[in-house]
Amino acid sequence: MSIAQPSFTNLMNGSEIRSYPCPTCYACGSLGESLYEGLGDKLFEAPGKWNLRRCVEYGCGLVWLDPMPFEEDIQKAYASYYTHQVLSDSSETLARRVYRCIQESYLASVYGYQLPGRWIHGSLLGALMYLYPGGRARTDFSVLYLDSKPGGRLLDIGCGGGAMLRRMDGLGWHVEGVDFDVEAVGIARARGLKVHLGSIEEQKFPQESFDALTMSHVIEHVPDPVALLRECYRILKPGGHTVVVTPNARSWGHRLYEANWRGLEPPRHLHIFAVGSLKAALRAAGFHKVRVSTTIRDTNAMFIASRSLQRSNGYDMRARQPLITRAWGYAMQAMEWVLLGLDQEAGEEIAVVAQK
Ligand SMILES: [Zn+2]
Repeated sequence: MSIAQPSFTNLMNGSEIRSYPCPTCYACGSLGESLYEGLGDKLFEAPGKWNLRRCVEYGCGLVWLDPMPFEEDIQKAYASYYTHQVLSDSSETLARRVYRCIQESYLASVYGYQLPGRWIHGSLLGALMYLYPGGRARTDFSVLYLDSKPGGRLLDIGCGGGAMLRRMDGLGWHVEGVDFDVEAVGIARARGLKVHLGSIEEQKFPQESFDALTMSHVIEHVPDPVALLRECYRILKPGGHTVVVTPNARSWGHRLYEANWRGLEPPRHLHIFAVGSLKAALRAAGFHKVRVSTTIRDTNAMFIASRSLQRSNGYDMRARQPLITRAWGYAMQAMEWVLLGLDQEAGEEIAVVAQK
């Protein structure tokens, strides 16, 4: 067996990100095989060239950086990163209003949210969501897969500017957030949200504090995901839920776009999970009641970004795409939905709801 020599090319001073060799799988301890070599950051121009490894255990499937950045240098990968754009609400046309009513009826019948926009009690109008799988996936995500719990305490970890907190607050949750990003925390606080600065461990929350903990696109950025999940388990009330949403290393998009797949994002994504490795991490943290699915929620955007990365050296996530490109993205999303019928692990994202 040949294992690529660990690279110290990132071990420089100043703005360089120092790193160390990491040949074995974080989730299961097996050896990794070399997957890609010499990848740069095409999104935010973080320094360094990065290799990715994949676990040889089929039931695991974890993909990770090797070399791995030292924890104290990770912030250098975020020098031009943004999590805090303020999105303006687009004006509501009649078509949007009708769609919103269908969504709210769906959320009432599936998750129990009693929203003012719903027209009919029960499932009739909401059932129309099933005709539009991409929209349904986005609508499920819009409540973070959580059933209604009026007055329940929810903590969003990696809350950014607080858009999701505001949404969940409007749905009857008592919300708090936590984030590393000073600017994002400032924006969230200016919106009147209760948001803590720093890591979840630093907050020293009492045990059994929350009914729900949510992490959307966070766990792939964290050096020690099991430690984070353990802390989640500790501060969760018995019967409470932890929601994890993260890119899926076994997705159809990754198979198609390989090193250009948007979900890789070196060097900010330290571990990219597959269903097996994420379940293993949750079990190691104490979660045994785990509901896992892969979703097409963001497939259109993932495909548009991946195709752009394949064709050029960059991709501006803030740029509005031409209509034809957006239509192509939705077509790929519909295709992935068909594929999900054949392979339940083909979706671009993994969505987990784990109960304590
Ligand atoms: Zn493994």
